Amino acid sequence: MSADTVTIFDTTLRDGEQSPGCSMTVAEKLTVAEALVELGVDVIEAGFPIASPGDFDAVKAIAEKFGSRTVICGLARCRKEDIERAGAALAGAERRRIHLFLATSAIHRQFKLKMAKEEIVKATIEHVKLARQFTDNVEFSPEDAARTELDFLSEVVEQAIAAGATTVNIPDTVGYATPTHYYNVISHLRNHVRNIDQAVISTHCHNDLGLAVANSLAAIEAGARQVECTINGLGERAGNAALEEIVMALRTRKDYYKVDTRIQTPKLCGVSRLVSSITGMIVQRNKAIVGQNAFAHEAGIHQHGMLQDRSTYEIMRPEDVGYVGTSLVLGKHSGRHAFRTRVTELGFNIDDATFQKVFEDFIVLADKKKDIYDADIVALIDNRVNVSADRWHLVRFHIAAGTGTIPTATVELRDGDAESTVCDAAIGDGPVDAVCKAMERILGISAVLKDYQVRSVSGGKDAQGEVLVELLTLGRRYHGKAVSTDIIEASAQAYLKALNKAVADCPTEVTEPGV
Ligand SMILES: [Zn+2]
Repeated sequence: MSADTVTIFDTTLRDGEQSPGCSMTVAEKLTVAEALVELGVDVIEAGFPIASPGDFDAVKAIAEKFGSRTVICGLARCRKEDIERAGAALAGAERRRIHLFLATSAIHRQFKLKMAKEEIVKATIEHVKLARQFTDNVEFSPEDAARTELDFLSEVVEQAIAAGATTVNIPDTVGYATPTHYYNVISHLRNHVRNIDQAVISTHCHNDLGLAVANSLAAIEAGARQVECTINGLGERAGNAALEEIVMALRTRKDYYKVDTRIQTPKLCGVSRLVSSITGMIVQRNKAIVGQNAFAHEAGIHQHGMLQDRSTYEIMRPEDVGYVGTSLVLGKHSGRHAFRTRVTELGFNIDDATFQKVFEDFIVLADKKKDIYDADIVALIDNRVNVSADRWHLVRFHIAAGTGTIPTATVELRDGDAESTVCDAAIGDGPVDAVCKAMERILGISAVLKDYQVRSVSGGKDAQGEVLVELLTLGRRYHGKAVSTDIIEASAQAYLKALNKAVADCPTEVTEPGV
């Protein structure tokens, strides 16, 4: 690797997945991993194998499937059983890394580990050496580095490198650092650790003060050549440094940082949408790079300048990040060819069978609403790709609701396994609640709705509504997303998607409905 290329280490599947409500199934993790490989990330931290059997299975599956195309990494504490478990999960990957961590700050030494400085140094050396037995590619993180005394941090880092660590990651675990402070920490290590040139310096910043990206960039300026980050800045508490922001800052300000990444930036918005729909974490409209408003110019004076020359108000081109606007493109009479062309222009490469389904959805939608926007097309595609093989399908529903009535829903679902349909009805606090309860009765599952969000995909009264739901059942959370011009139908479809995931996870006997 050349000195002016920054390694992008994505931890969406490990740190990102740890954030509340963001848990993913193994199949969903594989989908995200594939998108990350295509995006061009250098290292995928796929999970923490000893944390649970599900984590182990996910790391193993990702290692086997993608371990020849990029480096797959597993997290481990400085414990023998953690390292062996990570080694086993990663065994199928040609390119694999074990990421070890051990806290070094005074506060963690005293309250969490109850270990003296010498014990920490000893444990570091011992476990880095052990990890090296499973792979030549070992990363060591002194946890809470940003609050660790600089002389002790330097000592631990030097010993980790001497024991065989090839990457030393300096985490700001609690989001305490500020840019100049963090620059000084990295510079101190470069100036005081004698063997620092034998390892890559990495950063891992949390966003508690809103500084994760700024701190990561300061570290790169000080000589770090790996950044740990996540799609959409997912992560514990206020999240991690956002991959898309770091990559675009380095690209847009190459004049200043003079470094490259291998990221295929036109794929950024697509990966962002994928991660958002799988985790149910909506991207705020004004989010840098991937938010809906990131490239919207509303002020008249800006629009005037833009018409003269885009660079008056635009530092990046929308197409460089795969941004899809809400421009009007197609109507009812647009043919198959025009539709196919637009799908390709939007950066989607879908197979013929999926294209046919999306096109049929488009015809149905064009009957319901006059103007079809780019965002509508993206929503239709999202709806058809990356879908799990759902057992239950919505055939039809009917609701009765209004002031002074009892909201009532009748639902018919088709059971793909039994090839039969089942009908039931329920009352609820409102029409959405009634539809959801009727479906729960049919599936014999009772769930708690933890989160429900609805937004319009484009403008206009006939806009498609996108609904995201998160439900809790049998101790696990499941997400569902759907779009429709009818928000009750979108709600029902999103809820059914989440219920289908729950059914697939823990198959339950379907109870006799209506009893
Ligand atoms: Zn973290």
